[in-house]
Amino acid sequence: MITMAGVEKWYGAFQALHNIDISVRKGEKIVLCGPSGSGKSTLIRCINHLETYEKGEIRVGGILLGHQSKTIDAVRREVGMVFQQFNLFPHLTVLQNCMLAPMKALRLGKAEAEARARQLLERVKISEQAEKYPAQLSGGQQQRVAIARALCMRPKVMLFDEPTSALDPEMVKEVLDTMIDLAREGMTMICVTHEMGFARQVADRVIFMASGAIVEEASPVEFFSNPKHERTRKFLGEIL
Ligand code: ATP
Ligand code: MG
Repeated sequence: MITMAGVEKWYGAFQALHNIDISVRKGEKIVLCGPSGSGKSTLIRCINHLETYEKGEIRVGGILLGHQSKTIDAVRREVGMVFQQFNLFPHLTVLQNCMLAPMKALRLGKAEAEARARQLLERVKISEQAEKYPAQLSGGQQQRVAIARALCMRPKVMLFDEPTSALDPEMVKEVLDTMIDLAREGMTMICVTHEMGFARQVADRVIFMASGAIVEEASPVEFFSNPKHERTRKFLGEIL
């Protein structure tokens, strides 16, 4: 579903990604973790071309992600993304937030976009908030809207970049539960998160990055019980 082969990325003179090789099969759930500044956000942002890359190859669902807008649009239709800071449109209601992209990018009619939006708001258990504006919702509710909004595009892959780290502790669970439901339904997911309970429960593989490179990749059991690298042990010592 996703392959990254020999991907390298620079911000000016600074190399942010070193020789990244990742292959994600359909339905697989990957948790990506690592210290601040290790390149996690950069890596997943490359997958839908929010960042460019200078070397190597990225393929999503068979499409080679080049720099032409045609392939970028094709890939973005397949990939949903959820950010730490929800990024909802403040001047649109919850329902309108969910209808916008399907109407613009998929050319769905209004009625169809609305039906789809309501169905997905139901799925993230927030249908009663459809007519509200983002500012009228709690952080956890806003993040569930952001998930529903991404799902309205019927993506084949969902990317999450620390979706719970801006939330008050009592709201973390409702968002993780939504992600767990999505995982159970078979969604292909790459999640940047330090929620190690989630990683244990959901991940097929945990990938640990440091200084822009993949240091270690293992099943959650292996990763937590028998980390191979000193940097992984140090990281786990700090967050667990
Ligand atoms: P965090 O856990 O803090 O979110 P991260 O692992 O997501 O960190 P990135 O945001 O991918 O890390 O950043 C990787 C490196 O690239 C960092 O050293 C960062 O300073 C640098 N970087 C990120 N974005 C830019 C940019 N737009 N211009 C220059 N350097 C950048
Ligand atoms: Mg980040």
